[in-house]
Amino acid sequence: RQQQNTSSKMADTDKKSARDREEIIAISHLNKWFGDFHVLKDINMTVAKGEKVVVCGPSGSGKSTLIRCINRLETHQEGKIFVNGIELTNDVKRIDQVRREVGMLFQNFNLFPHMTVLENLTVSPVWIRKMPLAQARELAFQYLERVKIPDLAHKYPNQCSGGQQQRIAIARCLCMNPKVMLFDEPTSALDPEMIKEVLDVMTDLAKSGMTMICVTHEMGFARTVADRVVFMDGGEIVEENDPENFFTNPQYDRTVTFLSQVI
Ligand code: ADP
Ligand code: MG
Repeated sequence: RQQQNTSSKMADTDKKSARDREEIIAISHLNKWFGDFHVLKDINMTVAKGEKVVVCGPSGSGKSTLIRCINRLETHQEGKIFVNGIELTNDVKRIDQVRREVGMLFQNFNLFPHMTVLENLTVSPVWIRKMPLAQARELAFQYLERVKIPDLAHKYPNQCSGGQQQRIAIARCLCMNPKVMLFDEPTSALDPEMIKEVLDVMTDLAKSGMTMICVTHEMGFARTVADRVVFMDGGEIVEENDPENFFTNPQYDRTVTFLSQVI
């Protein structure tokens, strides 16, 4: 079994070093301040097509701020962020272009409360992608099937459980056919019995080849799904490694302390 693990790891490495490694996200020397507070310190990170990166670290370490910078929900002062080859600047047209390609999942679902589930799923394809409504509906049902709740199409978000709402939010993202999906602690507001249904959908998505950055403390998910785990503390990337080494052989005291608290 050990042997098999090693050889599949090597195949992964070969794949990543191939010339056609397509970078969906490239962040270099990113620095950000909130006033005087230096919240992100010289962050460097790339995510290739199909890669799944889990970001973890103590509360307040800058994880949300980092992924919010990737679709310009936060602005940065120094460094460069490229998403699918487009550099994020103040140019509103580019920001729109980037946001079309990036699906974002929040802790609190952020569904439109005054729209049915179906309307939540069709509004962006129709208004942003200019898709005919009938086609958008068909697509919406396809993704509701995929997250296993087609029967909720005509309900309102507040008639659905937290786990269902998060799966609806995932289906809504998928309707826009994103190049990458960002998850900011998608299960941390859920009751324990609902966490698994959301993690199952995320695992299924990962297997389908979606490029993903997930801020999560679900270390079981990190172990089974992540190609890489990034550990942040105090606005810095302290350590990053493949899950096997990250969990069994952490290099820094801060990582050891963190792992002892979450596992
Ligand atoms: P994490 O997601 O790792 O818990 P955040 O990125 O949310 O961390 O926050 C990092 C730090 O930045 C925290 O100290 C937080 O209080 C601070 N912070 C976050 N957003 C703002 C803001 N809009 N203005 C000022 N400080 C902020
Ligand atoms: Mg956060």
